Amino acid sequence: CGIIGAVGRDDDTLDVLVHGLSKLEYRGYDSAGVALADESVDICKQAGEIDELRAALEGRSIGGSVGIGHTRWSTHGPPTDENAHPHQDCSGDVAVVHNGIIENYQQLRDELVSAGHTFRSDTDTEVVPHLVEEQLRGGADPEAAVRAALDRLEGSYAVAVVIAGVERIFAARNDSPLVLGLDDEAAASDGGEQRGSAYYLASDVPAFRDHTDRVVYLDDGEFAVLGADGWRVTTLAGEPVEKRVDTVDWDP
Ligand code: GLU
Repeated sequence: CGIIGAVGRDDDTLDVLVHGLSKLEYRGYDSAGVALADESVDICKQAGEIDELRAALEGRSIGGSVGIGHTRWSTHGPPTDENAHPHQDCSGDVAVVHNGIIENYQQLRDELVSAGHTFRSDTDTEVVPHLVEEQLRGGADPEAAVRAALDRLEGSYAVAVVIAGVERIFAARNDSPLVLGLDDEAAASDGGEQRGSAYYLASDVPAFRDHTDRVVYLDDGEFAVLGADGWRVTTLAGEPVEKRVDTVDWDP
């Protein structure tokens, strides 16, 4: 199972996501999906191979400058289209991919159902977009909403979240791998030609190694915000964390 995310690409975000997922195939999976966000969130997901996802994407106009993708190894609920990630909230404005197991999902789900949320899957993951939605409804700004939602989770996770109208990816990890890939303008301009920055996140470096060799390994309890204008890492409580940037020394 694996996660990929990309922000700041010109117009090939979808290709970057699907290519990244194919590089994570070795981790094993039974379903795959992607979400792209701009003013709204478009999702394509289903049980099966990446090639089947590619086929399903043919002829569909799914776009957006911010994207996340997922390969699923089912733990809660069979490998069906509905259970494939990304998962959404009731409004359809929040999309989430997750690797791991949320131990307290039943309690959270009961609470959310009591608050009027309708669930579409059997997964533990689906509590996350609904928790974010609940925070947004309560007036939290997007980043605070995601941090507060993640703070409720017990168990293991690498998660990535996109929200309609927000040109950012929010991500965090606890006991599941997650690494950032940095391709900033400064580095790119060494070669002469100026271009915009792009940032990536993934379960493992091969997912974005074709685009950059500069990486930041997240540690447990850390939260990352990626936008075309930069990246930063904090704790789940929002305290800034200094991170070391590593350069991987192997070729794609
Ligand atoms: N527990 C989640 C599910 O069953 C995520 C599984 C995974 O790590 O791919 O959907």
